[in-house]
Amino acid sequence: MASDPRNVEIKYTKLFIDNEFVDAVSKKTFSVLNPSTEKVIVEVAEGDKADVDKAVAAAKAAIARGSEWRTMDASRRGLLINKLADLLENNLDEISAIETLENGKTFEFSKIITSLSVNVLRYFAGFTDKIHGSTIPTDGPLLTMTRKEPVGVVGQIIPWNYAIMMATWKWGPALAAGCTIVLKPAEQTPLGALYLAALAKEAGFPKGVINVVPGFGSTAGSALSWHPDVRKIAFTGSTQVGHFIMESAAKSNLKKVSLELGGKSPLVIFDDFNVDEAVEIAADAIFSNHGQNCCAGSRTFVQSKIYNEFVTKAAAKANSIKVGDPFCPESQQGPQVDKATLDKILSLIESGKKQGANVAAGGNRVGDVGYYVQPTVFSNVTDNMIIAKEEIFGPVQSILKFDTLEEVIERANSTEYGLAAGVLTKNIDTAMVFAQAVEAGSVWINCYDEAIGPHTPFGGYKQSGIGRDLGEESIKEYLETKTISIKLPVKN
Ligand code: NAD
Repeated sequence: MASDPRNVEIKYTKLFIDNEFVDAVSKKTFSVLNPSTEKVIVEVAEGDKADVDKAVAAAKAAIARGSEWRTMDASRRGLLINKLADLLENNLDEISAIETLENGKTFEFSKIITSLSVNVLRYFAGFTDKIHGSTIPTDGPLLTMTRKEPVGVVGQIIPWNYAIMMATWKWGPALAAGCTIVLKPAEQTPLGALYLAALAKEAGFPKGVINVVPGFGSTAGSALSWHPDVRKIAFTGSTQVGHFIMESAAKSNLKKVSLELGGKSPLVIFDDFNVDEAVEIAADAIFSNHGQNCCAGSRTFVQSKIYNEFVTKAAAKANSIKVGDPFCPESQQGPQVDKATLDKILSLIESGKKQGANVAAGGNRVGDVGYYVQPTVFSNVTDNMIIAKEEIFGPVQSILKFDTLEEVIERANSTEYGLAAGVLTKNIDTAMVFAQAVEAGSVWINCYDEAIGPHTPFGGYKQSGIGRDLGEESIKEYLETKTISIKLPVKN
């Protein structure tokens, strides 16, 4: 890699189909921008329906009866996934530099996330030969067993906030189950997934098992979710697009659907918890990855007795966050991913000001080049304000006041989202009553965002999603269960 990670070489810019990098059928390309400089990094081949058709055909052939992938020993599949993990680890700096270049997250954070992605692949590599059915004591002289089989060709559509990690979250369970893949990365961040595809080829995956088609949602993404030969679609992104995915699955071939969608997650802080520690946990919960986390703790509920002290300290904490060039080791927050995201965040900040919330810190753009936003803290936020209801997906903390456990459970749950929640208290009863009552797929007690790793299922209640990523549960999303019964001459 170049000595300055900013100058990392971009080697892969074409569609990856059948183990080859190819131009789009239309020969069209689109620009990938550096959100820190607003300059074009590179032009990338723009996949569309014709390219999705080609990729799906390759993936279908790769899992046909008698194919190398379908007949491969499960343990060997595990070795291939492990090999991919090794290659990712060996190229960690280079791929992390690409993530920072196209996404804007700090280089230090990219490296942490890439190494977590290595762990994800290793976890699923270990699962390949431990996926099995059972024998069932049916009535009559029968031997009945279940067999777990891959669903077939799967389409995977991912967002830009963790370009590499989202690909590994999706590839790990799909490959462990024995499926073949067509991935559509987000249009803002196709480069990391293309690099990962090159590593998959080097690892030795047979052609057609993994295909990557960069392009736009309404064209390439939509073609994938409507495709009649795709048997399952796994989507991570906004709740709005989640609705489209479900609709296209229903109206095309009833493909299976798993959705990891948005959130407006509550972090509830009781007055028996150390305020300084709470400020740190709450800041990490909202400001990590510049607020571009689906499970961001974006509604900070603070009990009345410590409310004023918390707001003062939370504002000081936000003001201390160093915003700047994501490749600079001192930077703690880089730019937001693109202009549209920046504009959306700034307009939501304006709505907070207009609706009477108090700006305790930040509240503006930083500079005029690059999509930088000041870490922003709003106090005196009420449940009816837009900033308390809509997912901002930016570095904006909204602090709300509450008095009682019952009240805060009710308010925490009064949203259509249900991805995550946190509670900070020294009272085990309070913590557990909250954890049981809150409608969320992940609940953290006295911490936030911890243990989001390969071992634990991750996903949402209500309109935050369907199904789970990660953990053993995620593999089930990629399997069919076949029941086989054998008639015996006698029961014994
Ligand atoms: P988005 O929904 O706009 O885009 C996500 C992906 O969907 C992109 O690849 C995009 O090209 C594609 N897409 C867009 N329109 C499509 C269509 N009509 N048909 C098929 N595909 C289409 O989301 P975004 O703004 O890029 O990402 C941010 C959102 O993702 C946030 O809401 C965030 O909460 C969510 N997210 C959720 C999780 C989770 O695990 N629950 C994780 C990360 C991000």
